[in-house]
Amino acid sequence: MSGVLLYILLFFFFTCDKNEEMRLIVCLIQQQMKGRVMGKRLVVLDFDGTITDAEEEGKPYVTGYAEDLRLLLGKKAEEVTPVLLSAEAEIAANPGENGWLYNGLIVAPATVDPYLRMRAIARRVFDHFGAYADRTDRERLMDFLYTNNYSLSGVAFKDGACQMLCELCANDEIAVYVVTNSHTEGVRKKIVTLSAGNDELASMCERVIGGAKKYLVDGRPDHVAESVTLPGLSRPVYLRRSAYFEVLERLRETNSVDWEAVTVIGDIFELDLALPFALGARVGLVINQFTPEYERDFIAGNPARAGFINSLSEVQSFVSG
Ligand SMILES: [Mg+2]
Repeated sequence: MSGVLLYILLFFFFTCDKNEEMRLIVCLIQQQMKGRVMGKRLVVLDFDGTITDAEEEGKPYVTGYAEDLRLLLGKKAEEVTPVLLSAEAEIAANPGENGWLYNGLIVAPATVDPYLRMRAIARRVFDHFGAYADRTDRERLMDFLYTNNYSLSGVAFKDGACQMLCELCANDEIAVYVVTNSHTEGVRKKIVTLSAGNDELASMCERVIGGAKKYLVDGRPDHVAESVTLPGLSRPVYLRRSAYFEVLERLRETNSVDWEAVTVIGDIFELDLALPFALGARVGLVINQFTPEYERDFIAGNPARAGFINSLSEVQSFVSG
């Protein structure tokens, strides 16, 4: 309770008729509570695959990555391509079992965007040819392949991205941020491209937080469960992602909101939404053809605090709902 409000309450306590004083106290407390509920809300957006069309942007990445794999293996394209396509089909058929392996744990599904998919494919291709068997060397090599080819990616925003961001920026009741694993500067450049001179939208660049490391599972915060089990998924979904938590917590404290006033929107439940959902936030899953069925089922089973976003034109009403 603020000092000003306390002063007002004390003033009425000592100066007013007791019945009138109680009525005013109740009224002020109600207003305070209403203000907390109706006050500013925090909206956190993922970027790649949520605002952008990751499949379209990733086409040159996939081509470059596949060519690098072929060169590293010293094989002809006709030898590598069938193995690569077979690996892709196996991964698509078993989205729950094939994931982004980080520090020995699966931290996200491998199917949802081309960047994660190529990493899982590369692992199977290396296994097939018996190459780069040392785990550390292989992980480093795949980090290099990611970095080396990411710069090839194009810029392709989803339909309605500009309007969606403009509407959120113009909404005085919302504080909106982009929180992403990608590098801050790369994302800012894309937003500047999208803004096309719109100053309000360009100002979104100030609210881009890159390098969020949503994939880092390390045991903190310990006030949330270590993991959650999703029906239809045989492995756990890990929740203690300290780097991501610290970003969200800082934004929440900066904007003086409770978790109930936080909405997080992303295209991968496990990576973007599982932690904030566990903390009490509302979450919106931007779905695409690769969204795992078990993620869809979880969202459908928790309508009070979770929902689907089929198109960016639905974001404004989802945030307001
Ligand atoms: Mg994403």
